[in-house]
Amino acid sequence: MRDGGMRTNWAGNITFSAERVHRPESTGALRSLVAASRRVRVLGSGHSFNDIADTDGALVELSGLPPEIDIDTAAATVRVAAGVRYAELAQRLHESGFALPNMASLPHISMAGSVATGTHGSGNANGGLGTSVSALELVTPDGEVAVLSRDKDGDRFDGAVVSLGALGVVTALTLDLVPDFALRQHVFTGLELADLDGHFDAITGAAYSVSMFTDWRAPRFGQVWLKQLADAPPPEFPWAAPATGPMHPVPGADPVNCTAQQGVAGPWHERLPHFRPGFTPSSGAELQSEYLLPREHALPALHALAGLGADIAPLLQICEVRTVAADRLWLSPAYGHDCVAFHFTWVPDTAAVLPVLARLEQRLAPYAPRPHWGKVYVADAAEVRSRYPRMADFRALAAELDPGRTFSNAHLDRLLPA
Ligand SMILES: Cc1cc2nc3c(=O)[nH]c(=O)nc-3n(C[C@H](O)[C@H](O)[C@H](O)COP(=O)(O)OP(=O)(O)OC[C@H]3O[C@@H](n4cnc5c(N)ncnc54)[C@H](O)[C@@H]3O)c2cc1C
Repeated sequence: MRDGGMRTNWAGNITFSAERVHRPESTGALRSLVAASRRVRVLGSGHSFNDIADTDGALVELSGLPPEIDIDTAAATVRVAAGVRYAELAQRLHESGFALPNMASLPHISMAGSVATGTHGSGNANGGLGTSVSALELVTPDGEVAVLSRDKDGDRFDGAVVSLGALGVVTALTLDLVPDFALRQHVFTGLELADLDGHFDAITGAAYSVSMFTDWRAPRFGQVWLKQLADAPPPEFPWAAPATGPMHPVPGADPVNCTAQQGVAGPWHERLPHFRPGFTPSSGAELQSEYLLPREHALPALHALAGLGADIAPLLQICEVRTVAADRLWLSPAYGHDCVAFHFTWVPDTAAVLPVLARLEQRLAPYAPRPHWGKVYVADAAEVRSRYPRMADFRALAAELDPGRTFSNAHLDRLLPA
């Protein structure tokens, strides 16, 4: 253990209030630290935009633990240490002939932090990242190690995957793998919102993974990114024009930060994320918000956003619209229904963004949006809780595994009061 480490999140809008950042160098040291601590939170790669990782107790980084990646080729699974980042895991899987079905827009994020917050990519048939998880190893408040698995724990396991860090310190995850595959990324420009009317499923289903980007200065998507399986025919996309060169989703930003486009085939992990490891993802100076809502409401909700364009556009760097398949993970924002996800990359000005978020959430309220757990939102805790049918079960699971609320913090005390 040592003093020091990260003091703010990646975006710099949250300064952690912990007096010490601990970096245990063995699972044994981590277990002793947890057993001796009143309050503990783990910091993953710090890419969340709210205070979900903060604590007034011990803030723990897992980067001192061995970055284990154990691939079971016969079972097509991998057991990976919690602090490993997706970029590192993906490279190893590709070298071994395996893949993950999907990735987020950036590979810089940690395994456990991403899964704990319900992180997702895009694709009508692609679930969030947590849907690949088949087992979790966690350190419980008394310093013991518990293993929860899909096979052994069933429904209860579905409750433990998107955990918000409330159930214990995840030290390793086991993930299902698929065979290595390749994709081509095609960017199109100038899709009118009017063309989405009546074609939403065709457009979001035009490739393996589809992302639409708009600045809401007009009811138009400046860019549409189609990530198509390399052995499938090129996507039919009559609604927009092919881009003439590489593009960055944020207007004015350098496309060198982005994964290869223009239909060049490449491995899954070099096409599914928008941004390349080793390069700044997104704009680098920003706040983010995101709301997932039932896909059946996509069009009225998009038109509601278009109606707010004059409020949104001045503070917006870019808005991304994606789709996420339904899952069974209790606190997943895609629990129970196929979703459309509305992501907003804002200018880094919290005071200006919060009032706009309040108006935006009010406008989306008829469609029961679930905010991304790791991004900025203003909805009150009772409202957020009401959007999750298994919330009471999750609270019971948290009370059972962590009766003394060792793994709670101010954020969870608001969201899930005792
Ligand atoms: C540029 C950028 C692009 C993004 N793109 C996407 C995207 O495409 N899709 C998407 O869904 N999200 C996206 N996000 C959000 C991001 O995926 C989430 O914020 C995610 O939580 C980041 O993982 P992390 O490791 O940084 O988590 P952190 O922010 O470090 O932690 C998140 C939570 O997980 C808990 N946690 C972390 N590790 C552990 C552990 N070992 N055990 C128990 N709890 C733990 C923390 O305590 C905290 O509560 C993006 C963020 C950025 C900055």
